[in-house]
Amino acid sequence: MPTPHLSPWRKPEHDDLADLARAFFTREVLPHTERLLAQGHPDREHYRRAGELGLLGLSVPEQYGGGGGDFTHEAVLLQEQAYAGEASLGLAVHSGIVTGYLVAYGSEEQKRRWLPGLCSGELVGAIAMTEPDGGSDLQALRTRAVRDGDDYLVTGAKTFISNGGLADLVIVAAKTDPEQRAAGISLLVCEVGGDPEGFRRGRLLAKIGLTGNDTAELFFDGLRVPAANLLGDAEGLGFVQLMQQLPQERLVIGVGAVAAMERAVELTVAYAKERSAFGKPLLGHQNTRMVLAECATRTRASRVFLDDCISRHARGELDVATAAMAKYWLTDGQCEVVDRCLQLFGGYGYTTEYPIARMYADARAQKIYGGTNEIMKELIARAL
Ligand SMILES: Cc1cc2nc3c(=O)[nH]c(=O)nc-3n(C[C@H](O)[C@H](O)[C@H](O)COP(=O)(O)OP(=O)(O)OC[C@H]3O[C@@H](n4cnc5c(N)ncnc54)[C@H](O)[C@@H]3O)c2cc1C
Repeated sequence: MPTPHLSPWRKPEHDDLADLARAFFTREVLPHTERLLAQGHPDREHYRRAGELGLLGLSVPEQYGGGGGDFTHEAVLLQEQAYAGEASLGLAVHSGIVTGYLVAYGSEEQKRRWLPGLCSGELVGAIAMTEPDGGSDLQALRTRAVRDGDDYLVTGAKTFISNGGLADLVIVAAKTDPEQRAAGISLLVCEVGGDPEGFRRGRLLAKIGLTGNDTAELFFDGLRVPAANLLGDAEGLGFVQLMQQLPQERLVIGVGAVAAMERAVELTVAYAKERSAFGKPLLGHQNTRMVLAECATRTRASRVFLDDCISRHARGELDVATAAMAKYWLTDGQCEVVDRCLQLFGGYGYTTEYPIARMYADARAQKIYGGTNEIMKELIARAL
């Protein structure tokens, strides 16, 4: 779907990538939507196919099997996924987040071991921070990693983990020193493909939206993880690593938010031209015109802000507060715009026959994950 605003970071190579991604989502994944929604998780084969097409790990250096690009390429992929209305594949987490941790903190050996599989789609990645007792207060997490010879024994529970049902590699935030808050947290790469002893997946959570993605509980009961799977040179660096990577995670969420707004406005304008009430198209009624003008303006302003954040991030200059502003304001805008657009569809907007209904349900999670929007405001306020 073309946007009338040309992103300043966009180059011809991004258009080629967008064409490839759009063809993949619309021709190869969307025909399976109803089945994917019913099974509650994506097809592993779709990850493999995305890998085969070169769509995974776009910002991973080529020597590890990636595309050798940067965040702008990841952004184009996620944008096209949202324009297509595809929401089963957890690419935002798999490519946009997990590979980022490995590139940033992985040793040479770790990168060679895991990145090629993530880029080919042989491995599915996830990141597990949230626990049943709480997600916002990350420093209070209780999962333990206790050193035992050359291994760690990981014990604890994680919940709401995107891609958790299929994941082969899970970056787990665990306490290596339970006496400490932030300084006691370490990130461990847990290889859970084939469900090794000491690891169990709980049920796939029944959600109101994003039903084609496998959001799961994960249970660790003395899972043996080689000490060599620790990310970073020493224990206790996990919280700092999370803080450094979370701005990108928040930007990833913002990319999806703006693409969803653009899609909602386009779908609704088309519907409002086609559907009539009181003898004229909906778009002929003043309220419809006003609402769509407001939604289009909010969407354009969001796009300009997002583009500025993407450009800053590509230059390595996206600060925590600005990323939090993007996450909070863009997802609030997504929920508002999608809700107002749904209203213009009348009763049809409430039926899943029309994409706007699913967009409404899917949008709601955006204000919650990646740090809730309340926590985002706290981060912004701290920087004032
Ligand atoms: C679909 C989905 C996918 C997810 N994927 C992942 C994933 O892949 N990995 C992962 O680790 N997590 C994931 N999450 C979890 C998500 O990040 C957490 O739900 C979120 O961080 C909030 O944590 P919580 O649910 O424990 O809420 P709580 O922390 O219990 O918060 C409850 C409410 O209290 C508010 N609150 C808490 N503290 C404060 C405060 N100091 N000031 C003001 N208000 C406050 C919150 O904003 C919220 O409104 C996912 C969640 C969903 C819904």
